[in-house]
Amino acid sequence: MLERFERYPLTFGPTPIEALPRLSEALGGQVEIWAKRDDCNSGLALGGNKLRKLEYIVPDAIASGADTLVSIGGVQSNHTRLVAAVAAKIGMKCRLVQESWVPHEDAVYDRVGNILMTRLMGADSRIVADGFDIGIRRSWEQAIEEVRKAGGVPYGIPAGASEHRFGGLGYVGFAEEVRAQEAELGLRFDYIIVCVVTGSTQAGMIVGFKADGRAHRVIGIDASGTLDRTREQVARIARNTAELIDLGKEIDDDDIVINPDYAYPAYGIPSEETNHAIRLAARTEAMITDPVYEGKSMQGLIDLTRKGFFAQGSKVLYAHLGGVPALNGYSYTYRNG
Ligand SMILES: *Cc1c(COP(=O)(O)O)cnc(C)c1O
Repeated sequence: MLERFERYPLTFGPTPIEALPRLSEALGGQVEIWAKRDDCNSGLALGGNKLRKLEYIVPDAIASGADTLVSIGGVQSNHTRLVAAVAAKIGMKCRLVQESWVPHEDAVYDRVGNILMTRLMGADSRIVADGFDIGIRRSWEQAIEEVRKAGGVPYGIPAGASEHRFGGLGYVGFAEEVRAQEAELGLRFDYIIVCVVTGSTQAGMIVGFKADGRAHRVIGIDASGTLDRTREQVARIARNTAELIDLGKEIDDDDIVINPDYAYPAYGIPSEETNHAIRLAARTEAMITDPVYEGKSMQGLIDLTRKGFFAQGSKVLYAHLGGVPALNGYSYTYRNG
């Protein structure tokens, strides 16, 4: 479905799918839990889901004649880390706006993990006081303008690479990859669990799995805490992406499934239950998840499995999208494990 879109390779290739037998057993053994490891997808600055999206955006950035990528995220943004990585890799400059999205006071929060790597890769990263918002921000538009005024040629990439014409393509590719791997493994997944915040990851998957009737089996676990905006953004990106690739099928409202039950207390702040989920995945499978994104989708996976949401014998694929570097900003939370 993606043949006519140019792709700039930033990843190793198809990511592994692995069984998680000890986690499955710990959750009662009635459901088979597997993971697709997009957290291990690249050698660029520890990788993650944003690289799949950026593979379809970089050709446009290069063709535009830009010399500076301009993007935005929170202080511990995985997305801005990966935009900085891509800029370094393709020989562009990088200007980043890092907003204060998370009311969190770990002493080293703005020195470690994502922002540490971002600075190491030479990005011009500036922290501003604005709070959480998944939409288009004035501070980002201003940064674009500043680069232009200084004589640079900016290329803007919005938060999470989501509100970009090509932002949904990468995860259409994910669905195609899963289908090919299912054929090799001789199985078919009944559900896909994915964390959702800025929306283009789940939107791409919805489009990709619409092709084989599984769009509504992509269960988004909201980590934004702003469900209505996230749902609206996923719907819009999914419909635009379906049109862009000439899917030939309408994305229905029922195709968009987002569970809001695990985002509490706020974006970037783990609940006790999130922390239990992070520990369980770490202690059964040595699979590390973070308190902002993947810990919350892991919490959703665990809770839905325990509640019997998945029929006995179901095969559930947990999409691990990355995000581990942010853990370093929570050193006090996990000081005792
Ligand atoms: C960005 C991100 C997400 C959310 O993906 P969206 O496309 O923004 O919805 C989930 N997990 C990790 C680790 C991320 O970096």
